[in-house]
Amino acid sequence: MNIAFRQGIEIIERLEANGHEAYFVGGSVRDTLMGREIGDIDIATSATPEEIQAFFPKTVDVGAEHGTIIVITSEQESYEVTTFRTDGKYTDNRHPDEVIFVKSLEEDLKRRDFTMNAIAMNKHSKILDPFDGEKDINRKVIRTVGKATDRFREDALRMFRAVRFASQLSFSLEADTFLGIQEDKELLENVSIERKTIEMEKLLLGQGLKFGLELLVTTGLHAFLPKLEGKEKQLLELGDMPLQHLKNRSAIWTVLSYVLKLEMHEVEVFLTSWKLPKKINKSVLENLLLMEQVQQFSWNKESVYRAGLERSLEAHQVMCVLGLDEETSKKKINELYDKLPIYSLKDIVFNGHDLMELASGKRGKWISEILADMEMALIHGEIENERAALKEWVYNWLQKYDRDY
Ligand code: ATP
Ligand code: MG
Repeated sequence: MNIAFRQGIEIIERLEANGHEAYFVGGSVRDTLMGREIGDIDIATSATPEEIQAFFPKTVDVGAEHGTIIVITSEQESYEVTTFRTDGKYTDNRHPDEVIFVKSLEEDLKRRDFTMNAIAMNKHSKILDPFDGEKDINRKVIRTVGKATDRFREDALRMFRAVRFASQLSFSLEADTFLGIQEDKELLENVSIERKTIEMEKLLLGQGLKFGLELLVTTGLHAFLPKLEGKEKQLLELGDMPLQHLKNRSAIWTVLSYVLKLEMHEVEVFLTSWKLPKKINKSVLENLLLMEQVQQFSWNKESVYRAGLERSLEAHQVMCVLGLDEETSKKKINELYDKLPIYSLKDIVFNGHDLMELASGKRGKWISEILADMEMALIHGEIENERAALKEWVYNWLQKYDRDY
C-alpha cells in the first residue's frame, strides 16, 4: 500500500477502536486503482464531526455542518475525515439545502458524483464498490451514480467535473452522462465563477486535453463559461498544444488569451470575467507585451533585463507551447540573463547622488534621462560598470546633449 495511506490507516484504526466504520474514499482510491499518483486522501466514517474531534488531539473544523473535519497526524499530515452523509433536497442546482448524517457507507457512496469516485477501500486494501466503479475505470468511462440528469440537476458543477476528469484521465463519457450534460448544460449558469475557474484550469492541464476540449465543445458546456460562447474553433486549436508543461496559472491564462486573439484592452475584461486575482491579470498582460516585443525584436539583453528572469522564462514557456518560438532554448534565456552586467539601477556603481555631486546639487529631469541612457549603455556593453569609466561617459553625455552640468 502507498506510503501516504499508512498514516491514514492509523486514523481509520482509531475510529474503529471507538466503535466506528471508516474507509478511504474518493480520488485517492480511484487513482490507486488506476496506478496514478494520488493527491489528497479522504476518509469517510460513521463517526459524527464532534466524535472525530474528540478522538484526535489535533483537528481543524473546516465544515462540521457538512461533516468535514481535518485530522492532523503526529507527523503533521492532514487528512479530511467526513461523516457518512446524504444530501437533502437541492433547490439552487448547486448546494444541498441540508446534509443528513447517516450510518451506512453505501448511502454515502450513493451521493457521490461518478462511479469511479464512489469506491471505498478499507485498511486492508479491500475494495467496496457498490456501483461498479472499478469496471468503469477499466473501461475508461465516466458514469454518474444514478440517473445523469437527476444528478446534474442537483448539482450542475458535476457536468463540468465530468469533462474535467475526462481531460485529466483521458476517459470518455458514458452515453447517458454525455447526453445528460447536453440536455442540462444551461444549468452551469448556477455555478459560481470561482468553481468554473478551478475546473477550467484542471481541464487545461489534463493529459487528455484534446479530448477534454472536444467534449467541452460537443456537449455545449463551453457556451456557459465566461466569454467562450462562439469560440469553438479557438478552443479546439488549444487541444494540439502541450499545455501540461505550463507551471503557473498566469501562463495558462496567457495561452488562452493569445489563442482567443484578444486585443490588449479585451484581455483585462476577459480575465476579470473569470474573477482571476489582479496579480494574475498583471502577469498575463506582462507576458503578452513581452511576447509581442520578442516576436518583433527576438530575445535580447534588453528584453530579459526589463522583464526579469522569471517573467522571461514564463513568456518563453508560453511561446514554446504556442509554437511561436522554435529556436530559443530555455538555456539561452538563462544565459542572456546571467551575462547581464547589472540587474537594476541600484547595481550601477555611479548613482544619482554622484551625478548631483558632479552638478553641484542641481536637480532636474536630466538626472533620470542620463541614468536611463547609462543603464542601456551598460546593458549593451558600451561601457564597463566602473566609476572612472562612467564618470567619463557622463562628461561625454553632457557635452553631446549640450548640458551645463
Ligand atoms: P481530485 O483528484 O481532483 O482531488 P477527487 O475525486 O478527489 O479528485 P474532490 O473534489 O477532491 O475530487 O472530491 C472528493 C470526492 O468527493 C470525490 O471523489 C467525490 O466522491 C465527492 N465529490 C466531490 N465533489 C462532488 C460533487 N459536486 N458531487 C458529488 N460528489 C462529489
Ligand atoms: Mg481530492
